[in-house]
Parts: sequence; C-alpha cells; structure tokens
Amino acid sequence: MAFRQLTLGQGVARLTIIETLVSPLRPAAATLLQPASISSIYSLGAALMIAFAWLALRRRRRGRPVVVKALVRAIFSRRVLLHRSTFADLAYCVIGLATLGAIIGWAVVSTSWISDGVAAFLTRCLGPHPEPHGPDFVLNGARTLALFLAYDLGFFIDHTLKHRIPALWELHKAHHSAEVLTPLVNFRVHPLDSLILANNLALIIGLIGGAAQYALGRQAMSFTLFDQNVLMLLYIYLTAQLQHSEIWIPFTGVWGRVFMSPAHHQLHHSADPAHFNCNLGASLAIWDWLMGSLRMPSVEPPRLAFGVSGHTHDPHGVMGLVVDPAIKALIVLCRQLFGMGAREPYLQGLTQRRPGNLAKSESVE
Ligand SMILES: [Zn+2]
Ligand SMILES: [Zn+2]
Repeated sequence: MAFRQLTLGQGVARLTIIETLVSPLRPAAATLLQPASISSIYSLGAALMIAFAWLALRRRRRGRPVVVKALVRAIFSRRVLLHRSTFADLAYCVIGLATLGAIIGWAVVSTSWISDGVAAFLTRCLGPHPEPHGPDFVLNGARTLALFLAYDLGFFIDHTLKHRIPALWELHKAHHSAEVLTPLVNFRVHPLDSLILANNLALIIGLIGGAAQYALGRQAMSFTLFDQNVLMLLYIYLTAQLQHSEIWIPFTGVWGRVFMSPAHHQLHHSADPAHFNCNLGASLAIWDWLMGSLRMPSVEPPRLAFGVSGHTHDPHGVMGLVVDPAIKALIVLCRQLFGMGAREPYLQGLTQRRPGNLAKSESVE
C-alpha cells in the first residue's frame, strides 16, 4: 500500500512537472493548430496550394511546361530558406510563441468592455434604438461585415501610426528588417509593437462593435466558423500567409483597389524609397486608396530588395531585433516629449529609412 501510494505520489509529481514544462507551449499549440489562427499550419497549407496553383497557371500562360520540380524550387527557394534573416525569424517565432501569448493576454484592454460602454453611452445620449426590422441573416451579415471592417480599419490606423510616429517606427522597424520574406516574418514583430497593435485593435473594434450593437441590437450575431469571423477567415486562408512570401501574386484594376494582394504587401516591405509607407492595410486596400497611400503592384514581378538600413546592431540578433528598437523608441520619445537630444550612435538612421546595400531578390517564376 505504501509503495502504491508512493507510486501515485510520484505520478502526480511527474504530471505536475510535465504540465509545468508544457504549459508555456499551449499558446504556441493554439497559434499553430487552431484553424482560426492567423498563423496556423492549415492556413500555411492553403497558402502553399495557392502558390503552386498560381505559379503553374503563370507558367502555362507563358507557354512553358508545368514542371513540379521547378515549382517546388521556386516556392522553397534555397536563397530565401537559408538566409540569416529566415533563421532569425524562426528563432523569433519559437521564442515569441512561448512567451507572447502570456504577455499580451493580460495587457490588452477588453473589447467587449468598450463595446458595451459605447452601446450604453449611445443609448443614454440618443435613447434606445428602435428594434431593427429585417431578416436575421441580413442583421447578422451587417454585424459580420462591421466587425471585419473594424479589424481592418484598426490595423490600418495602427500601421499608419507605426510608420508616421518616429518612436513607433523604431519598434515597427524590427518587422521591416527582414531581408527575405517567408510566412515566418509574421512573427518578426517587436513585443511592444504587438502590444500596441493588440490594444489599438481592441479599442477600434470595441468602438465600432459598440455602435453596431446599438444599431443592430444585441440579438445580431456575427457569422463565425471555428469561433472566427468568416470574412476574417477568408483573409487568413487566401492572402495573409502569402503577403509575407516572395511569390508575386498581384491584384490589379478595381480588384487591387479593394483587396490587398500578397504583392501589395511585398511592395510595403520594399527597400526602394519610392515604396516607403505604401500599402498599410491588412486585407483591404480601400483605406490606402482613400488616404492616397495605395501603390498598385505591376502584373509582372519587379526586382525588389527588402529590409531597412541604419542599424546600430545586427538586425538579425537579439540586440538589433529586441533591445535596440526599445532603446531607440525611448530615446526618440524623450526627445520629442522633453526636447532631449539623442546622442551617437543612436542618432544614426534613427527615423529615416534608407535603402542599404541589400541583395536584390530574384523574381520567382
Ligand atoms: Zn509596416
Ligand atoms: Zn509585413
């Protein structure tokens, strides 16, 4: 009996240790395995299929034979996969997955708290909104669209601020320091940049969601799949992963003024000054179109270089990716708020992006 108790006790202790070791991996598993996650292995699989289909179609249109080996070589380019930038993204991805969920979990303002507050405020100021008449699917569709637009507008506003406010640009520059583009660049975001984005999104989705709740009534529900807005799912599965790739898939004409194609975001990452601060939206191009920051991609893939210059440290190391952006952001903030002068070496390349001596990326055929 004593032995049995001892065994059980050891089993419990072992379980606790395993649980303790595994618990930091839970947010990582959720990010990679939940179908609604923006970085899941399923949306990555969908992106790969789209890439294969697109490249095959393009070769056929040019009258060239569709050779699977050539397509695999184009998608899994050795130059891209073996680049130092990709290794840094991989390390950043692993560390970020294990830590970021916990940090952002407690630091984000509550969207439902804001939307409930906005709905209550509107009711107090304007009186109770008359119950909207209409079929459920129309009201639900309107709420689905309103929340999707709220996310996209929130992302656009946050991204614009990151490019316009020097202190925020110092943080956001870590994302732009990627010299080659793979879906791993999705993870190359400074923790403070992620934190600010999460709060801005919560605020804007809360504000617009509250107005939608007031106008459409509490009964209106978004259409969801896997607990995710269906329009958001379309974005995640059709373009989100490919926006950080070097496969040139352009939306042109009216289509390209409404939706942000992978090529739009590749131009956003371009080191060419002509492309700086363009295409700041996530899934929709309409905000950029309205604000004059839209740059339409060409049909044929241009030769682009990616990355930023003016680094004090290696942009693919811990100092360059994590420590340096935070110090520079603080210095720029102090300089702007209190008129304090920044000292070398942090003055160099502080807010201005300049094209560096970057290797030209090959166009992917
Ligand atoms: Zn950006
Ligand atoms: Zn990006």
